[in-house]
Amino acid sequence: MSGDGDSAEQGAATRLVAAGRRPEWTGTPEAPGVVVSPPVWRASTHLYPDMASLRAGRANADGAFYYGRRGAPTQWALADALTAIEPGAAGTMLYPSGVTAIAAALLTVLVPGDVLLMVDNAYEPTRALARGLLADLGIETRWFDAMDPTGLARALCERSRAVMLEAPGSLTMEVPDIPALCALARERGLTAILDNTWAGPLGFAALAKGADIAVMSLTKHVGGHSDLMMGSAAAAAPLYARLRRRAQQFGFVVSPDDAALALRGLRSMALRLDRETHSALAIARWLAGRPEVARVLCPMLPGSPGHAHWARDFTGGCGLFSFVLRGGTSRGRDDFIDALRLFGIGYSWGGFESLATPVDPAPLRTASPWPPADSAPADRFGVRLSIGLEDPDDLIADLARALDRMG
Ligand SMILES: *Cc1c(COP(=O)(O)O)cnc(C)c1O
Repeated sequence: MSGDGDSAEQGAATRLVAAGRRPEWTGTPEAPGVVVSPPVWRASTHLYPDMASLRAGRANADGAFYYGRRGAPTQWALADALTAIEPGAAGTMLYPSGVTAIAAALLTVLVPGDVLLMVDNAYEPTRALARGLLADLGIETRWFDAMDPTGLARALCERSRAVMLEAPGSLTMEVPDIPALCALARERGLTAILDNTWAGPLGFAALAKGADIAVMSLTKHVGGHSDLMMGSAAAAAPLYARLRRRAQQFGFVVSPDDAALALRGLRSMALRLDRETHSALAIARWLAGRPEVARVLCPMLPGSPGHAHWARDFTGGCGLFSFVLRGGTSRGRDDFIDALRLFGIGYSWGGFESLATPVDPAPLRTASPWPPADSAPADRFGVRLSIGLEDPDDLIADLARALDRMG
């Protein structure tokens, strides 16, 4: 980070502007810092002036030229910027996708024979990774209800080595007590990995709140424009060194073009998140007043599961939330989504454009029931919205029209 003054005391948006812009990455030795953003360094081979330099290059340090697989200033600038906004991080590794980042974090801390404890509302591909790759490697996974205060304690065993957390949970958006879960993990010698894609470091200071590894899909808010795939994992010193070593063994590398796009997205992230959060909350409130809607699952909305944890621990939200239709059918829900005009139908989220996808959590839960015990069994089918940068009144009008058409 190249900003002047005590960056820890600066606001998030200010830090985002200066982060990663080291003068040596945005200029030449004669004119350091001469351009605002680091150029795209397309490089596999890094050339050395002589043999002594080639030998020195083997030091394997961050920010040292060596060979393209260890990146060049474009990727280093992005990693450096992400580290600058993650309190407590010694460094950040970049991966070709968010799923790769999750797999890499898990394979950094787990070995055959270990048991992984995973929240029941984990991102579906994270569950699939546990049932597939980890199981094949002899790593067992046990799922627990993140909202049950004794859930993690009861799932613990002699062989448990790590816990995979997510806040809020995927699709159903429950916000667990992350500091308490991380404290218990630490007490029992487990590594706590948090998928922090929803809030990101501006909305939830994952490492400062107790997580050992903070994972993000940069595909979502950091990219922010639905045109790149990338992931990251940040940690304090000892674990960061292990993440880095494992990533180098796998040979993970991200393209400099994508790193430059992600860095561009990062500069406006605070602004976009702020807008999305306000729009999402207005839309969530409006949906909560509609008779066709049984529940609105939006961490920022009072009454949503875990809202008190969000209000206590988070400094921001985003535009992603779900709602459940009252007594609806899967077909009626699909008709509702088809009737929307301003919402795209497609996976991912966190882009500038609004999206809608169907939510059917029932087949994805093994440690907690869906619909939950405190809701009517018929209130089962949901919709997940990713609120973009459109005018919220237009989005509300679109939702109203689609709900009316559902009859
Ligand atoms: C999208 C997503 C991921 C995976 O990210 P990709 O970049 O799509 O691989 C991981 N976790 C959560 C919570 C996500 O929504």
